[in-house]
Amino acid sequence: MSLSFSYFAQNFNKKMEIFKEIEPLKKRLQELRSKGQTIGFVATMGALHQGHISLVERASQENDIVVVSIFVNPTQFNNKEDLEKYPRDLDADYSLLANNECDIVFSPSVEEIYPIPDTRQFELGSVSEVMEGKYRPGHFNGVCQIVSKLFAIINPNKAYFGQKDYQQIAVIRAMARKYMPEFLGEIISCPIKREADGLALSSRNVHLSPEQRQSALLISKTLFKAKEMSDNGENQKSIVSFIKKNISSDANLCLEYVEIVDKNTLLPITTTLKNKAVICITVYDGKTRLIDNILL
Ligand code: AMP
Repeated sequence: MSLSFSYFAQNFNKKMEIFKEIEPLKKRLQELRSKGQTIGFVATMGALHQGHISLVERASQENDIVVVSIFVNPTQFNNKEDLEKYPRDLDADYSLLANNECDIVFSPSVEEIYPIPDTRQFELGSVSEVMEGKYRPGHFNGVCQIVSKLFAIINPNKAYFGQKDYQQIAVIRAMARKYMPEFLGEIISCPIKREADGLALSSRNVHLSPEQRQSALLISKTLFKAKEMSDNGENQKSIVSFIKKNISSDANLCLEYVEIVDKNTLLPITTTLKNKAVICITVYDGKTRLIDNILL
């Protein structure tokens, strides 16, 4: 039995198609492609917010059809508790997407994606080993497993990823180059969507208490100030020590790492920072792990 159905947005009489299985989705996309339609793709883990929607909007501006996947990928979680408590609300996600520019949703089960365990190992060198790679062992291997599967199923003309996960984009580019030479889609990086007060939107923000939410604000504030310092010619060492001091001033926050790295290689940078570097930061706010970054 094929599991696909249509969803009518509440306020707009727009039809959005939902697929749970790979083969019917591939068939539908082939049909659209044969009519000359271009496909833009946004991969998500659901619990959607305006950050995700900003990617959907961009995809809709640049393609005929927008496909969004919703899949909480178990292989990219190196912490079981984190996977279990990851927020999930498919109905709210469908509704939000149907009321935005999404045409097709792919929300498969874990069994559909991994009928047998995926044992592939992606060897990408330092780009996947520093920062998140170091603190979340196995995380990027899981990201490569799911993204390579999704690219192969959807075969988009363009795929959109948020700069919020800065290192992830570099890893996905490296993975596609090395392991999917047949993939001709363009990988597009989109700006970080922030709340009015600066906090980067994240599905994990729902875990923050009001007090922790207030503390979280210090992360983006610190990054904005750090950029200002860099613009004024301050050196890397003083910027890093400013960031460490600022973050440690809030009792709810615990810095995991902050690094200023080359914006392309993600390796430590020794030359001038301006236009060449990115500051990447990960902070625990209570038990919630928040990441953010800023280009210099
Ligand atoms: P996730 O559901 O967290 O896996 O995110 C799916 C995609 O949305 C990834 O490409 C993220 O980088 C992107 N994304 C998440 N939050 C934001 C944000 N605040 N601004 C822009 N893109 C985002």
